[in-house]
Amino acid sequence: MALINTLQKKNDDEPFYLVDIGDVIYKYVTWTSMMPGIRPYFALKCHPDFQIIATLCSLGAGLDVASAGEIEIARALGLQDEDVVYSNTCKGISHIRAAAKEGLTQMSFDSEVELQRIKLTFPNAKLLIRLLVDDSHSILKTGAKAGTPFSRVSHLFKVAKELGLNVVGTSFHIGSGCHDPSAFTKAIEKSKKAFDIAKEQGLELKVLDIGGGFPGHANTLFENMCHAVNQAIDIHFPADSGVKIIAEPGRFFAHTSSTLVANIIGKRLRYSDDDVQIEGTEMLYHINDGLIGSFLGTILARQKYLPQQLIPTKGKSYRSSLWGPSCGAMDCLLSDCNLPEMEAGEWVYYEDMGAYTSCLTTNFNGFKNTTRYYYINEKYWYDLPFSSML
Ligand code: PLP
Repeated sequence: MALINTLQKKNDDEPFYLVDIGDVIYKYVTWTSMMPGIRPYFALKCHPDFQIIATLCSLGAGLDVASAGEIEIARALGLQDEDVVYSNTCKGISHIRAAAKEGLTQMSFDSEVELQRIKLTFPNAKLLIRLLVDDSHSILKTGAKAGTPFSRVSHLFKVAKELGLNVVGTSFHIGSGCHDPSAFTKAIEKSKKAFDIAKEQGLELKVLDIGGGFPGHANTLFENMCHAVNQAIDIHFPADSGVKIIAEPGRFFAHTSSTLVANIIGKRLRYSDDDVQIEGTEMLYHINDGLIGSFLGTILARQKYLPQQLIPTKGKSYRSSLWGPSCGAMDCLLSDCNLPEMEAGEWVYYEDMGAYTSCLTTNFNGFKNTTRYYYINEKYWYDLPFSSML
């Protein structure tokens, strides 16, 4: 209904997002009921939408930031030091300075070089050592880029101590879109071993950061992950250990929040050079959001995005391909797929477009960032504990 209302008010064919703030609130309530002891720091990189971020922070979430630009967002929301974790392990000097200027002390590292750079720019920072963990069950693997192998942990603690730096905890990331709850079990066990090594070296760690990697839906996989996390924490970091536990979920809060609505702006059959329409020939559609727009996940996560017709037709199906609006020859978001025939000017939509979509768009060919409209889905309005306050 929100979709149709918005379309009726529009008099252009530009694509747009519908963002359900109720879904974000529902996810936060679900998180806190499933893992009450673990404060989520929303990884805003995955959907830097100010309304979503502001909603989550007003409910009690912190923010995981990755750059000076994201630090500005945290400050605009009035967040304090304890509300922000800077989880990028290799930071530009000017970005570390931005954190220092704002007094945001919690940040991660995974190398000796990073320790030296932090020593020069922000020696009072509170450091989390990022551990390399098993990310083999994830769609987007993080281990090749960040995380120190366990064999280097003791050495890095020693270097930090020699430099007079303050290591306060550990962090890890099991990879984004993980399918295996036991990845958390193993990573938390590894974190405990790092805590033990620190203790042997005279360091008292106080923070465990379990990263992101949770699914985009509050589904059975999510429940199983929560169970695995809670169980491992009970064993290795019981409440009386005094360790503060935090997480950096991105996809979990963002994925289901947003629906992309786009318009079919071109259509033709692929004819051969001698004007022959071959049996089984392909229908080419052009749509006004593309691969270098919201659909980079086609390459990054080998994701297949299928358009839903706003008003489904029962026409003939064609082998089809879908192309984005730019002149880039690579701007193909779907190929070799059977789709019911669609018409130029028709609206199509894509659900679950909140995570790692619009944040990855480029302005190639002068296409502007997609407009967003906000609403609260009726199904959440009456059930959410805050609806009377909104
Ligand atoms: N933390 C860090 C350091 C990340 O690199 C990412 C994304 O890859 C996240 C958190 C969020 O991960 P996810 O969206 O899988 O929860």
